[in-house]
Amino acid sequence: MIRFYNAKIAQFSEQKPFIVEGELWTENERIRYVGPSGKQITPSFSREIDCGGNLLLPGFKNAHAHTGMTFLRSHADELPLQHWLFDQVIPYENLLTENDIYTLVKLGILEYLSSGITSAMDMYYFAEAAAQASVDCGFRMVISCGGSPLDRAVRQYDYFKHYHPLISYRLGVHSEYTEKREDLEAMASFAKARKEPFCLHLHETEKEVLDCVSRTGMRPLELLDRAGAFSFGGTGYHLIHLNDSDYDILKNRHVYAVTCPSSNLKLSSGICPVSSLLRKEIPVAIGTDGPASNNCLDMFREMFLVSGLQRLTCGADACGAEDILTMACSTGAQAMYLDQCDDLIAGNLADIIMIDLSKPNMQPENDILRNVVFSGSKDNVCLTMIGGKILYENGSYLIHDDPDRICRDAGAIIRRMENTLAKRPG
Ligand SMILES: [Zn+2]
Repeated sequence: MIRFYNAKIAQFSEQKPFIVEGELWTENERIRYVGPSGKQITPSFSREIDCGGNLLLPGFKNAHAHTGMTFLRSHADELPLQHWLFDQVIPYENLLTENDIYTLVKLGILEYLSSGITSAMDMYYFAEAAAQASVDCGFRMVISCGGSPLDRAVRQYDYFKHYHPLISYRLGVHSEYTEKREDLEAMASFAKARKEPFCLHLHETEKEVLDCVSRTGMRPLELLDRAGAFSFGGTGYHLIHLNDSDYDILKNRHVYAVTCPSSNLKLSSGICPVSSLLRKEIPVAIGTDGPASNNCLDMFREMFLVSGLQRLTCGADACGAEDILTMACSTGAQAMYLDQCDDLIAGNLADIIMIDLSKPNMQPENDILRNVVFSGSKDNVCLTMIGGKILYENGSYLIHDDPDRICRDAGAIIRRMENTLAKRPG
């Protein structure tokens, strides 16, 4: 058992997050007690941590990512989308191996841990290698199905069902536009038959929506809804270009929205109408998207951008710090269909971060939660625990691997690809 005492503890069970002062105990992978100090202490703790008045939060949930794309970080930016994708992304992705993904996901996990992210909903190649890297680091990952063929999705669905407590699997596809109509409908039917939610990139660009209308006479959300994809809910990544009937489908089918503001800005996709979604009681989570289109995996930056973009488009009272922190820590868990990770309460999983409030950028403590959202940074994360295990503390990683070697190996992967492609004619 581990005891955190002298702590400020953020909880999310009310309409708005609030702070209680006291202590939090963990036992194995779960939270056992949260409440005031002075309770008769009978357990013997393996470790007691004086939090010194610092803040405990449920870890940030990265509700949309392509973690393995770390190798393309800052590889080729400032290019038109088509040129970037077909000349600088796909040829490199074609050279990826399973071992590469194992290393590249570990690099992403190092960044997650140091920025207080305790779980990610991930979609990329070699899902089995990504899952193994997560398990080996102790990181919680939700694998988001990349799409057809259906038999591969069925195999993965069965494979990951009992793979490891840290890993779960969500059905879906990459996007409407990457699937043939019959494949999309087959994937949707399978999710419905298994009573599972359906997760995918959705209404990210105007072109995606208009192309779907000209091909099918329907917008992607309507097409998917008619195919029964959201019979048991779902999660849409990006959700920028929405009309009234789109909002109705999201609300009626209990589909979560994941906003990815850095990626939307970098790729010039538009601004997710977060305030409108929240007003219509459609829950919103936050994602970083992949390191190629962001380029970093930092929830502090995403939180600040959600706020800034809503204020720019809807006024200075849009999206307060409490709303945004709820999206990042709590709604994110729900959008990933992760049970018992959304709050610091007894019985929940012990996915916890500690924020150092003594740093100058967190002072004075006029409003601690506003400080986290509006002036916080990953430098304030002094501890990250997942499933009751401390994996990052005061700048050191406790993941049974050498972070320097992971960084070196990731660099060698992109150099190898560059050499291979340089030798190819034309
Ligand atoms: Zn994406």
